[in-house]
Amino acid sequence: MTENLQHKTAIVTGSGNGIGRAIATALGAAGARVMVSDVLVDDGERTVREIIDNGGEAAFTAADVSDADQAQALVRTTVERFGSLDILVNNAGVGGGKLRLHEIEPADFDRVIDVNLRGTFLCTKYALHHFLEQGSGCVVNTASTYGLIGAPNAAAYCASKAAIINLTRQLAVDYGHDGLRFNAICPGYIDTGLGRRGPQLSPEEFDAATAIREKAAGMQPLGRQAQPSEVANLAVFLASDSASFMTGSIVTVDGGCTTTFNYGEAS
Ligand code: ADP
Repeated sequence: MTENLQHKTAIVTGSGNGIGRAIATALGAAGARVMVSDVLVDDGERTVREIIDNGGEAAFTAADVSDADQAQALVRTTVERFGSLDILVNNAGVGGGKLRLHEIEPADFDRVIDVNLRGTFLCTKYALHHFLEQGSGCVVNTASTYGLIGAPNAAAYCASKAAIINLTRQLAVDYGHDGLRFNAICPGYIDTGLGRRGPQLSPEEFDAATAIREKAAGMQPLGRQAQPSEVANLAVFLASDSASFMTGSIVTVDGGCTTTFNYGEAS
C-alpha cells in the first residue's frame, strides 16, 4: 500500500478479529494512529500488539458500540489520547444465526440491528461532533454483499447491512458540504480462518466448516475467498486522500460473486 495516513487518527470498531483486525493493522501500517476497539479485550489487545510490533502506534478501548455512553466515551478517549480523530471505521458486527424470519426471536433480531445499525449510528454521531468542529473527517462502514441481495437464512443481518448501505449514502448528502466523506465496503466471503471458533471445533465440525469454506470459495468468480487484507486495502484507500472525491460510494470486494446467479448460501 502506498497510501500515507501519517498524522491521522482512526477508530476501528470490532477490530479484535477478522476484517476489523485486518483494517486496523493496515491503517497502522499506513501510518495512522489506531484506536482499536472491541467488546473482546484480549482480542483487541492482540491487535494493538500486532500494530506496535509492526512499528505503528495503537491503543485499545473496550466499547460495546450499541451503548450510547460507551460509543461516546470511545470517541472522547480517542481524541484525548491521540489529540485528533480523522477516520472512523464502523466495523463491529454480529451475524444473528442462520434462521428464516419466522424462527427469529424478537430479541435476537433487535441485537443484530442494535450492534450493526445502531452501533454505526452512535459511533458516527459522536465522531461527527468532532469532525464538524475540525472541518474534516471520513467514515468507512463495513457493510456486506448481504446488504445488496437477499441471502438465505439471514433476515436480520441482510436488513441491517442494507440499512448501513443507504445510511452511508444519506450521510454523504447531509455532510458533503461540510467536507466530510462516507463510504461503505461490501465484502463477499472472506477467509478469516475459522476465527475464534477454530480451537473449539470437534473434528466433525472442523470438516463441516472446511466444506462450507470451499463452497463459498466456489461461489465467487475468482474461485477463492478473499484474504482479510484484500478488504483492508480498500478501507485504507477510502480513508486516504487518494479517495478525496469518493463519498456515498458502495464498493464490493467479493471476487465478483454479486455479478452472477451462482450465488447462494455458503452454510
Ligand atoms: P468478520 O469475520 O465478519 O470480520 P468477526 O465476528 O470476526 O466478523 O468480527 C466482528 C468483531 O466485532 C468481533 O471481534 C466482535 O467481538 C466485535 N463485536 C461484536 N459485537 C460488538 C459490539 N457490540 N461492540 C463492539 N464490538 C463488537
